[in-house]
Amino acid sequence: MIIVMKPNAGEGDINHVIEKVREVGCKEILLEGTSRKVIAVIGDKRDIPPDFWDAIPGVEKAVPILTPYKIASREVKKADTEIRINNKILGGKKIGVIAGPCAVENQDQILFIAEGVKKAGAIALRGGAFKPRSSPYSFQGLGEEGLEYLARAREKTGLAIVTEILSSEHIKLVSSYADVLQVGTRNMSNFLLLQAVGESKKPVILKRGMSATLDEFLLAGEYILSHGNPNVILCERGIRTFETHTRFTLSLSVVPELKRLTHLPVIVDPSHGTGVRDLVRPMSKGAVAVGADGLILEVHPDPEKSFVDGPQAITIEEFAKLMEETKAVANAIGREM
Ligand code: PEP
Ligand code: MN
Repeated sequence: MIIVMKPNAGEGDINHVIEKVREVGCKEILLEGTSRKVIAVIGDKRDIPPDFWDAIPGVEKAVPILTPYKIASREVKKADTEIRINNKILGGKKIGVIAGPCAVENQDQILFIAEGVKKAGAIALRGGAFKPRSSPYSFQGLGEEGLEYLARAREKTGLAIVTEILSSEHIKLVSSYADVLQVGTRNMSNFLLLQAVGESKKPVILKRGMSATLDEFLLAGEYILSHGNPNVILCERGIRTFETHTRFTLSLSVVPELKRLTHLPVIVDPSHGTGVRDLVRPMSKGAVAVGADGLILEVHPDPEKSFVDGPQAITIEEFAKLMEETKAVANAIGREM
């Protein structure tokens, strides 16, 4: 249910509605950025008569939301959500590119890549310090040491830091270094982690579970939103299909579909989505052409020596070329990069 306030409703009216919401045992989420104030009511509303809300001063109408996700829905908020990542904006007219290695390997590596991707126009640096690996014997990331190297790269380049959070136990530690928290595909249904990042103030990149439907993906986003964090970026990163030609199947058709269903920004990860270096550039252009608000890409100066995900890493030179070509696509559809 959303409560649409009258254009002239004042703060007193809004506070009164919030009191009423709490009185009936529900929780309110005040939605900003719309021409009039809108309050989403979360909770069990079965015992509340339909005209209960209409009688409250300042209320224009109460509208039931039919989708299973509420705050994420375009029905609740028409305008695109723009997310500030330090001093840069992702969403709306702006397309933002996040780039860096799969994993932080050492200080020199991350500094070198940070400088390279910044020069080519990236808005943020990615790099895993805690890595979710299929095998317990594979490199698991440098942990806090990796976070320290990322922080040093931010200090040197000014780039915001995007890094994965694997567990709600790490929320304090990772948040003390990161500018953006990444929830990976394997954790999209870790509801306690979604709650924890929802309580954090940092923007979150939520990657689609590799076997999640769009509704499940949007509901995972709803977990974060309903716990108070409005800064959610959805990331399509490929799904599991019968196809073995690529590592995953990059499902680009979900981009316009998500843009229709939600106001949240949608980015694409063609590195994991294909797992194939030569496909990263064409699929990046494709992603922007179908309406993605950004890209997240794996870049390594020497992919052959990359600790993790070498076959899908592109060099800094290839990244610079990708940026130029993708920018031309962005401009052709009236967007800025
Ligand atoms: C990553 O970004 O390095 C990563 C592990 O991504 P995903 O969760 O999409 O596999
Ligand atoms: Mn990776």
